[in-house]
Amino acid sequence: MEKMLKISKAQKLLFDIIVSVGTEEISLTDSPGRVLAEPINAQFDSPVFSNSAMDGFAVIAKDVFSAGREIPITLQVIADIPAGRSIETILEIGQSMRIMTGAPLPRGADAVVPVENTDSYGLNETNTTLPTEVKIFGSVFPGANVRKKGEDFKMGNVLLSKGRILKPQDVGILAMMGKVNVQVHRRPRIGLMSTGDELLPPESELLPGKIRETNSHMLSSLVVSCGGKVISMGIVPDDEKEIYQALDALAESGVDLILSSAGVSVGVYDFVKKVVEENGHIDFWRVNMRPGKPLAVGAFKNIPFVGLPGNPVSSFVGFEVFLRPAIYNLAGSINWQRNVTRAKLLESIESDGRESYLRAILEVSDGQLNARLTGHQGSGNLFSLVYANCLIIVPPGVKSLQIGSEVEVWPFYS
Ligand code: AMP
Ligand code: MG
Repeated sequence: MEKMLKISKAQKLLFDIIVSVGTEEISLTDSPGRVLAEPINAQFDSPVFSNSAMDGFAVIAKDVFSAGREIPITLQVIADIPAGRSIETILEIGQSMRIMTGAPLPRGADAVVPVENTDSYGLNETNTTLPTEVKIFGSVFPGANVRKKGEDFKMGNVLLSKGRILKPQDVGILAMMGKVNVQVHRRPRIGLMSTGDELLPPESELLPGKIRETNSHMLSSLVVSCGGKVISMGIVPDDEKEIYQALDALAESGVDLILSSAGVSVGVYDFVKKVVEENGHIDFWRVNMRPGKPLAVGAFKNIPFVGLPGNPVSSFVGFEVFLRPAIYNLAGSINWQRNVTRAKLLESIESDGRESYLRAILEVSDGQLNARLTGHQGSGNLFSLVYANCLIIVPPGVKSLQIGSEVEVWPFYS
């Protein structure tokens, strides 16, 4: 039997030819989704100062220890502390200060009684007149409703590491650290081309023997979904010279990786392999997977090259298994991990012993995650990929899975 490469081995060989792209400075507003290229350490403790977690009254907890609805404790109100104001006065026994959420806790106070637990609750809310006294209807522990200085993080803590894909909440913390501009990796430039004499652009009428080309459009949006920039040559005919010209144009445009679909198989018109070999090198692998077994990896004029199979579903799966992690690597995201989950099968599955990536629907039913196939798994059947929302992974060596078996599932990215 023909020897096939393990997926993990093929991934490693591909990652070995990839070097992450350089960096650039961008504005905070442009940073979501970009890969951080500098570590972000805390410049101060956060919260910066101890502050109130509620609208209410700053007190000394001991003073209201015995307070209850029937036997309230009356405290003098000596000041008002709206958010944004800091007060020097020290709170003393028998006193309180009205305080709003986020306002600094005054010295001397050690807790906040929520307004709901005082006789100030329900008064005309827009009337800011400060009462001279407040009745407290409940006790609080020292530290209650106080956000302590440094409870979230301390000065010097690592907040964001290099290689992280910036999420909205990270952008928030960058702003907190005063980062108006941030150092990120530039977007990797991915050159795309689809080969095949049968392929027509989407605006064309369908002609005998021809099909509308799908892969470059699908691959382009997959590249964008992992932060890459696409330079697409669109459709290139099965012609050696034209294939050379398209690859050369991509190389000239400064792409970081060339991704081609089709033309790397064993068909007599599969010229891509030959052209890449003559201008660099190529390894053609058969990977122990289904679909997407044939994969070509190499370099065209020193630019990493990957050739995916032409069947649309094979090229999608090949992208997910090899290109998504590779592009994140290229983009400088060192610790990228796919979101995977596990689900119970709602139907039995037969396999041929190759690691299989099957189109399926993941759903919550009976309080658990279940998955079922979208039907016929032919690698040219794009529609069954369209209404799938995940891939089920059948491990290598497994030939059948019973209903109720637990499988690994890859939910789709947007
Ligand atoms: P190949 O890898 O050239 O042998 O192509 C395998 C199958 O995928 C054939 O049925 C092709 O027509 C189809 N195919 C190849 N490229 C594309 C494409 N870009 N869009 C849609 N189908 C394609
Ligand atoms: Mg072809």
